[in-house]
Amino acid sequence: MALLNGRATMPCKRLVIAFDGPAGAGKSTVARLTAKELGYLYLDTGAMYRALALKALTQGVDLRDQEQLSALLGKTAIELEQGRDHVLRVYLDGREVSDLLRTPEVNASVSLVAEFPDIRSEMVMRQRAVAKRGGVVMDGRDIGTVVLPDADVKFFLTASLRARAQRRQIDLKALGYEVDLAQLAADIEHRDALDSSRAHSPLRQADDAVLVDTTEAGVEAVLERILRECRKHVC
Ligand code: C5P
Repeated sequence: MALLNGRATMPCKRLVIAFDGPAGAGKSTVARLTAKELGYLYLDTGAMYRALALKALTQGVDLRDQEQLSALLGKTAIELEQGRDHVLRVYLDGREVSDLLRTPEVNASVSLVAEFPDIRSEMVMRQRAVAKRGGVVMDGRDIGTVVLPDADVKFFLTASLRARAQRRQIDLKALGYEVDLAQLAADIEHRDALDSSRAHSPLRQADDAVLVDTTEAGVEAVLERILRECRKHVC
């Protein structure tokens, strides 16, 4: 309870904000900047699935074997540390793997790992633990629908396939990979199809999510729209 002019007031609520949408729609950039602007914690849940996929690939674990993957996750520590500008550093069993999570190999494997209900329930438990105290922005595929159905504000970001492929091409170029645009679009379309059609927690817009199409809009404009919406919910 805070005191304003001698009167007791309720402290401002620290919101729980959910972002979902297909690959390359701009979720992580916008979610990170939203967290930075509001002074909240940012959690990129895709990075958690990517970290597990990376570990499975490195250790030669069969990506189609739920039991082996679950056992692997049980003995895996995934930590996300918020650095400058809220950019996340990801640690897998204490070793930083941030630059290894977006390679074509991990891109091609992550949706297989994310399909298994046992993997998802463990990840969801870890994600909810982070959101418990509020003041968090989380992005993924099932945040508004499954992980945080009671989130204060929910967004579903989307963009044309071409725009999303172009963004991923720029990201990959920065990591030193030259990937053909048509190939990237096909890969993204395939991953979206897997994410949207899986039996457990498929990618879906929550009924109460605000839909934002980022195809034509720059980051600044999208962020402004998002913050306007969030501010309706804070004091
Ligand atoms: O967001 P990002 O593209 O890094 O996510 C990588 C993959 O992780 C997705 O394509 C999806 O298969 C999986 N994922 C998920 N649920 C989440 C976040 C990511 O299934 N909440």
